[in-house]
Amino acid sequence: MAAVKQPLEPRDKPCDPPGALPYGRQWLDGDDIEAVVRVLRGDWLTQGPLVVAFEEALAAACGARHAVAVSSGTAALHLACLAAGVGPGDFGITSPITFVASANCVAYCGGIPGFADIDPRTACLDPAALDEACARRRPKVILPVDFAGQPADLPAIQAVARRHGALVIEDAAHALGASYEHQGRWFQAGSCAHADLAILSFHPVKHITTGEGGAVLTNSPELFARLQRLRTHGITRDAALLTRQDGPWYHEQHDLGFNYRITDIQCALGLAQLRKLDRFVERRRDLVERYRAALADHADELELLLEGPGKRSSYHLLVAQIRGGTDRRRRVFEAMAARQIRCQVHYIPVHLQPWYRRHHGTRAGDFPRAEAYYAGCLSLPLFPAMADDDVDRVADALRTTLARS
Ligand SMILES: *Cc1c(COP(=O)(O)O)cnc(C)c1O
Repeated sequence: MAAVKQPLEPRDKPCDPPGALPYGRQWLDGDDIEAVVRVLRGDWLTQGPLVVAFEEALAAACGARHAVAVSSGTAALHLACLAAGVGPGDFGITSPITFVASANCVAYCGGIPGFADIDPRTACLDPAALDEACARRRPKVILPVDFAGQPADLPAIQAVARRHGALVIEDAAHALGASYEHQGRWFQAGSCAHADLAILSFHPVKHITTGEGGAVLTNSPELFARLQRLRTHGITRDAALLTRQDGPWYHEQHDLGFNYRITDIQCALGLAQLRKLDRFVERRRDLVERYRAALADHADELELLLEGPGKRSSYHLLVAQIRGGTDRRRRVFEAMAARQIRCQVHYIPVHLQPWYRRHHGTRAGDFPRAEAYYAGCLSLPLFPAMADDDVDRVADALRTTLARS
């Protein structure tokens, strides 16, 4: 139920009650819709030329050599783990402050998901805590999450991974369009300059959307070939790999893969969206600056999670830490909702989820910094189609609410 809108015109949201603000939503223009309709009038609905075109555009946008577009960010995580060789009994470490998929993907492969605590300044995986966790049990893969759009400390995490013989899968679902500095040079999230693989998601709340969709990025030709095979049932037609050649129809299944294909319909939308990425990121950054200015006088009540030195965040989320404990955060959340401002909480620490407690024996107290972060975090509405007035309305409501809570 996407609204058609032209760049930077006022919102038109038929699904929400008048004036309600979600924490995030897509932005679709006439050119997005025309691109999809063109595919519907053509020959290829899936696995046509637009999949490859979208992959090439994604790789170029992130500064990576290869991209494999798939049906969701979760499928991308699953394939990245399989390509990295995660199998039964293999250990994988991620941050507790993430969407459950970043940890589930290890379990999909029969592996054992584990965690290391966050750096409270960034809410990203802390390289020192990661190093300790690796020393206790050697992981096959490490999955740093570029939380809220700020790249994790990827160079330090890669150094830890190398020391322990693990591969790095960067979960860049929040960070398309972000970058970070290392030794005087800037690198893009998803470039795989300090990771073996990286994944993106194109869910409607993310930077660009294909409805559902995701991608894996890599600079390795071997991982690229494996990912392409795994996306389509593990089937290959590559003459160099076939054990026989029965005729022009002949193909072989070499791995147990999946149908994680994305359609040409979705890739047409993705290509049209990608052309707007820079504008989307600039708009998000402008809105964050407006929030920062509007809330600057309330630093004793709330702290915004902003980009740190050497980081350029693409701000998938703007998270406020509400001081005064988890009951106060809840009161603020509810009071904002009563004003039609739909904040969110990102995230409930994954190790506290009942499935993880039951199957992996995790407990409250295991990752105290992640738990302290969770107790106060509140994601404020942030998406490119928001008007400046919307930010002012949220900031006013927050000030009033904090004064009463
Ligand atoms: C959205 C998201 C995913 C999963 O993406 P889907 O496309 O919804 O499957 C994975 N990791 C993080 C951190 C995300 O935010």
